[in-house]
Amino acid sequence: MQTATAYLETLNPEQRRAVEHGSAGGLAAPPLLVIAGAGSGKTNTLAHRVAHLIVQGADPRRILLMTFSRRAASEMTKRVERIARKVLGDNAGIMTDALTWAGTYHGIGARLLREYAEQIGLDPAFTIHDREDSADLMNLVRHEKGFSKTESRFPTKGTCLSIYSRCVNGEMPIEQVIGTSYPWCAGWAAELKELFAAYVEAKQKQNVLDYDDLLLYWAQMVGDAGLADDIGGRFDHVLVDEYQDTNRLQSSILLALKPGGLGLTVVGDDAQSIYAFRAATVRNILDFPDQFSPPANIITLDRNYRSTQTILAAANGVIGLAKERFTKNLWTERTSAAKPQLVTVRDEADQARFIVERILANRESGTLLKEQAVLFRTSSHSGPLEIELTRRNIPFVKFGGLKFLDAAHIKDMLALLRFAENPRDRVAGFRLLHLLPGIGSATAQRVLDRMAEAADPIVALAGIPTPPRAGDDWKGFVQTLGNLRYSEWPADLERARLWYEPHLDRIREDAETRRADLLQLEQIASGYPSRERFLTELTLDPPDATSDQAGVPLLDEDYLVLSTIHSAKGQEWKSVYLLNVVDGCMPFDLGTGTSAEIEEERRLLYVAMTRAKDDLHLVVPQRFFVHGQHAQGDRHLYASRTRFIPERLLGLFERTAWPVMPAGSTARTAGQGPKVDIGARMRGMWR
Ligand code: ATP
Ligand code: MG
Repeated sequence: MQTATAYLETLNPEQRRAVEHGSAGGLAAPPLLVIAGAGSGKTNTLAHRVAHLIVQGADPRRILLMTFSRRAASEMTKRVERIARKVLGDNAGIMTDALTWAGTYHGIGARLLREYAEQIGLDPAFTIHDREDSADLMNLVRHEKGFSKTESRFPTKGTCLSIYSRCVNGEMPIEQVIGTSYPWCAGWAAELKELFAAYVEAKQKQNVLDYDDLLLYWAQMVGDAGLADDIGGRFDHVLVDEYQDTNRLQSSILLALKPGGLGLTVVGDDAQSIYAFRAATVRNILDFPDQFSPPANIITLDRNYRSTQTILAAANGVIGLAKERFTKNLWTERTSAAKPQLVTVRDEADQARFIVERILANRESGTLLKEQAVLFRTSSHSGPLEIELTRRNIPFVKFGGLKFLDAAHIKDMLALLRFAENPRDRVAGFRLLHLLPGIGSATAQRVLDRMAEAADPIVALAGIPTPPRAGDDWKGFVQTLGNLRYSEWPADLERARLWYEPHLDRIREDAETRRADLLQLEQIASGYPSRERFLTELTLDPPDATSDQAGVPLLDEDYLVLSTIHSAKGQEWKSVYLLNVVDGCMPFDLGTGTSAEIEEERRLLYVAMTRAKDDLHLVVPQRFFVHGQHAQGDRHLYASRTRFIPERLLGLFERTAWPVMPAGSTARTAGQGPKVDIGARMRGMWR
């Protein structure tokens, strides 16, 4: 153990000011904003602040800590423990175990809602819909309303849900959302209003909440329902990381919890705001200080501890061209002679080979796979690389892509558990009834209607005569649901699997692989104390690694990280490779609408580049493959370097080509290479 606050000495003066802000361990710290660029130690400072509060006597059970993912929350808690350990010794573990209110906005919201449900007229046994379930429900309602039939150009279920979600999270009227982001839906405003009203009603009837509801009801709880003092009073300190990516609803919750701002600390970087497409608004962080009187204290940090000077210079160069920006350029003492590399390759297959070669060379010279990461704009971009890694037996995990839980068979199993938990959940009900032979949509609807009208839906189900052709499968289903109601956790998962397995062979391909996944699901489930907690937490923050053919590597193994840029937020690696740094990928095709969207894409590139500590490679394939939309079919596009790195920034990079051409030969120019359809293989990758 060291002297009382030795850990403070590792901090620079501004960081230390943020950590010690307010009276020591006191309850009355005025509101604080730490706004600073990437790698300046914001998260580290927040962890030190929490540890310091605890060391000074704050009650960890009365600290609310919100981050953007559960993983980030648990890493933060571990960091707090390591810091506090220096002073508190073994007691630090006990103290940080009591930090039970660390998590995401949605996760914390779900917990509070269950606790206070009855006071706001909500049934506490609600189940939660993930985005896909929500889209399915939107679709069901759309069919019931007849909108999809009247006009084939009616917005898709996904678009409907996105518009709905933006209205809720941005607290904006539908006309405004359509006008700014979905102009092609302008003719449908009236129908969409009607649809959304029906969607809300359906959710209430079925006692399901979607992601947005978790925030919406929480905001209501601390707003109109008058529970602000109760809930706000439970926490002496409320701290939020990555505040630039919160939306209006989230900031209104925060302000309702702590209207005077006492005990409130938020940190973030406006230059890293990358969730506007989900209604996050950078205004939250920029306007934060003026929400209070006197205004919140602002601390800025300008020293970067993460990256070498050359990487930082390139990242600063890219973000320096942004139209608007509050945080200033960073400096570092980490010198390096090597500039980040801008590597031209022929196509995505070469890109994959180049990266694998470099990664293996790095490993040879002592850099673990775990210290390297490959980042990309969108999940499908890593397809060719995944093939190459699998071929070369290099273990990897992928974040932000198709998730384990998205697989059809896992969704079937979860639907069964969810239906047992809440038999009014129609999306789950439809999914299950469709698994039974001889049951079509009309029958499923009749069954679910009967259940919905009954006081006890499961009893009502048992009373429904066996539909023709469903026979024993029907009886087995009814019996399983009845049993699941009373069985113990996690034994009921096995019971559910035993019911489901015989169906697997009939309805899904690759039954063997899927069986292994079901066992893995049971393994995951055994870590949760109850079915409700399992369903809630898995739905809100699913394990984000996808299993590849070789299965998910064990945690103590060395493996490479593949991640979307969005999911790489807040993290760092020694070596970072960025795929497809070309126009059309970055900025992304779909993002090339308004100038605000282009600016967000620029910030994404900045986020990606600032993940690297020692070396950074931006790879530019001269052509890449796109999945065709509509009549265009799949095709190769000839690509050019991203517009975010114009001529005048090129001096900040070292430019190379791979494979290196023998002297005298000219590089094969775009258009002459063989057209290899890597797309066909990519499409087969996902089950
Ligand atoms: P991002 O904007 O990407 O979220 P951040 O501002 O949260 O970055 P951190 O992740 O907290 O930055 O810190 C970046 C790196 O700098 C980490 O490795 C951290 O340990 C290190 N670091 C932060 N402050 C100091 C310090 N005072 N002395 C030494 N290293 C530090
Ligand atoms: Mg951070």
